[in-house]
Amino acid sequence: MNGNIKDIVHHPHPILRKVSTTIPGKKIKQKNFQQFLNDLEATMLAKDGAGLAAPQIGVNDRVVVIFRPDNKHLFLINPQITKKSWGKKVEEEGCLSVIDEKGRIIYGPVERHKRVTCIYYDREGKKKKIQADERLSRVIQHEIDHLDGILFIDHLNK
Ligand SMILES: [Zn+2]
Repeated sequence: MNGNIKDIVHHPHPILRKVSTTIPGKKIKQKNFQQFLNDLEATMLAKDGAGLAAPQIGVNDRVVVIFRPDNKHLFLINPQITKKSWGKKVEEEGCLSVIDEKGRIIYGPVERHKRVTCIYYDREGKKKKIQADERLSRVIQHEIDHLDGILFIDHLNK
């Protein structure tokens, strides 16, 4: 079941501004949903993304995939941040959905929590918890924002 590479939805498309829908647990193991997860992963890899959220390929479902260097990419279904560090850090971010008129990715400084704890369901439908810091923490916060219709450019100039 290979993934198909999908088109990326770009800002200011309204799909990127919707609050995405929670996935019912029984849907996770369904064949068409598993295919969708593969499509999301294949698209992230093809576009060289650090992560990709479902709305970025036009689907308002609460699903993200995050690139892992060991190729065991992290699927977060219905992710929820349950803890955030007080400590924050500003770093440059970009987004496959936010490009300039020449199609180049726009970057900007965003303040994020240094560490987060996140609960989610994995692609087998098992409930999981992850504690993340550094880059992974930043990517998780960026991708979950997408599920709430928030783009990193909303955090600029604060
Ligand atoms: Zn993004």
